[in-house]
Amino acid sequence: MPTLHPRTALSAESVFARISRLAAQHGAVNLGQGFPSGAPPAFLLEAARQAVGTQDQYTAPIGLSSLREAVGHSLGADPTDVLITCGATEAMLVLAQSLYGPRAGDERDEVIAFEPVFDIYAPQAELAGARFVGAALRLDQGGWSLDLEALRSAITPRTRAIIVNTPHNPTGLILTAFELGWVAELARQHDLWLIADEVYDELYYERHGTHSPPAPLRSLAPERTFTVGSAGKRLDATGWRVGWILTPPGLAPSVAGLHQWTTFCAPAPLQAAVAQALVAAAGNGFYDELRRSYGARMRRLASGLSELGFGVFRPAGTYFLTARLPGMDGERLLTEGGVATIPLSAFYRTCPAPAGVLRFAFCKSEAEIEEALRRLEAYLGAT
Ligand SMILES: *Cc1c(COP(=O)(O)O)cnc(C)c1O
Repeated sequence: MPTLHPRTALSAESVFARISRLAAQHGAVNLGQGFPSGAPPAFLLEAARQAVGTQDQYTAPIGLSSLREAVGHSLGADPTDVLITCGATEAMLVLAQSLYGPRAGDERDEVIAFEPVFDIYAPQAELAGARFVGAALRLDQGGWSLDLEALRSAITPRTRAIIVNTPHNPTGLILTAFELGWVAELARQHDLWLIADEVYDELYYERHGTHSPPAPLRSLAPERTFTVGSAGKRLDATGWRVGWILTPPGLAPSVAGLHQWTTFCAPAPLQAAVAQALVAAAGNGFYDELRRSYGARMRRLASGLSELGFGVFRPAGTYFLTARLPGMDGERLLTEGGVATIPLSAFYRTCPAPAGVLRFAFCKSEAEIEEALRRLEAYLGAT
């Protein structure tokens, strides 16, 4: 019998899939995996109905020009620097393949990201033959913040890139213009690529500073920054699998050249529908409504958890809120209390995780959030 390649060791079920499976088994309210429980906007669905039957064949690997234009416009950038991918997940995979890999001998390129970290970066670095290095964010009474020294000391002569996820999953942290400037300067000093995972760019509940341009990191270091986005996160349709990369000037064709060997192109009718919807969303106040509605649910969950004794670290953006209760075990809360969350330890690879911290997704219905708070109260009263 032949055997699978050792890299299938990376095929373990993700924590999000596992928690969703357990939540279904135990009839738990699922505040674990970050997918909206509401429907996508009607203007997106209508655009898709029109596109199926008219836009059904391959697009060029670089993407449908109407979508590249809509994305470029929304990011204040030249559409020729935009390519379309199958979600931000494939965007990050194609960038990993494009930017780092094995070196001569036993050495490997290194890529740095903040911990707690979104789960795809480390396995994608491994698949590219590179090494993932975590730089811990700081957590204190005031909440999460960037630890500039931790980031600086993670850099070695083998470092090729820094992944900067802002607004940040799982903490909800948004880096300030000052912090981004510092990261850009560090990248320049060490001649590193920057990958800005900005899938939550429209999901912010506070703004730091007075002016935040679109693609803020790229505006500071255009020659070395790749900005990644997702129609799924922008438009409440995470299953659609349409994403994009804004590259440094002139590099989109090279990156699209690797994307042609992975998935060739994102689903053509959905590219067409997203193109229309991005234009509509820019003019109809959709993102303001998204922020208002998610912001209200975030504040309700935050105040409910505070009343139950949790230390809540208020997010500035994203779908997620982190909160701490000493001795809290996420797994027991799921099986015995009927509320699914993600233990923060699941987001640590190389740095030590803070104890008793859970990530709650609030991109869920008000009814689900109320039910989760009721169950938490009963569970805490009983234990
Ligand atoms: C959801 C998410 C992604 C993946 O986005 P898709 O478009 O669904 O592939 C990438 N990065 C972060 C931080 C995310 O939360």
